[in-house]
Amino acid sequence: MKVKFNYYPGGKRKALTMSYDDGQIFDRKLIEIFNKYGIKGTFNLNSGNFDREPFINSSEIKDLYKNHEVAVHSLNHPYLTLIPLEDLAEQILEDRKNLETLVGYQVRGMAYPFGDYNDILMKSLPSFGIEYSRTTISTRGFKLPNNFLEWHPTCHHNQDLIEKWKEFKNSNDKRQMLLFYVWGHSYEFNNHNNWNAIEEFCKMASSDESVWFATNIEIVDYINALKNLKFSVDRKIITNPSSIPVWIDVDGESVKINSGETVYFK
Ligand SMILES: [Zn+2]
Repeated sequence: MKVKFNYYPGGKRKALTMSYDDGQIFDRKLIEIFNKYGIKGTFNLNSGNFDREPFINSSEIKDLYKNHEVAVHSLNHPYLTLIPLEDLAEQILEDRKNLETLVGYQVRGMAYPFGDYNDILMKSLPSFGIEYSRTTISTRGFKLPNNFLEWHPTCHHNQDLIEKWKEFKNSNDKRQMLLFYVWGHSYEFNNHNNWNAIEEFCKMASSDESVWFATNIEIVDYINALKNLKFSVDRKIITNPSSIPVWIDVDGESVKINSGETVYFK
């Protein structure tokens, strides 16, 4: 029996996730567009900036971002590789704590401010409860990262988004789980007066039923659940101890294994 990990939830082979930084008031309009088309995103916020122009108010955060994920972007947006370790701990943990108080769930994701990171910073993140962190390096590709703490996006929204999406749509590599990952700042749509570009993209993406629309942490949790499956040596006994269902490829067929379920193959 041959088992492969190449399905997202629902037996889909492709996923789309969006990642937007800084938490300015233009997130309101971006979220309105995401919600209209069922697109999911992660919003990386600096809680030290809340309640002053042009940033969002802490009182609106829970409601505004409720269909999406809120993640850490540090307390005050410094270059995190250029500050003492004591300050780093505060920048990450205080931001996490502030955000968790507002949204009411564990905040476990991050995007590096200015895309600035190094090995020491990256390796310190798990000790602050951070499970993934996004860079600003576009790969132009559709692969899942080897290391979620160094998660390179596919592209910025200004990098031929529509053309890239068409390439993604035409990619039919059945051996891989493909991911389209877009990042940016909502204020850029305001500055460039091109809200229609992101609306057009969301409309086009939403019409594709073969794509799973997910936040960053939903993807991390799903991949971890796949990796957490327990197999017998001959792969005929499989247990899913995670809290979410997973889909795997068994001899070319997609098989769903529910949370807590053990399946026995003949
Ligand atoms: Zn930023």
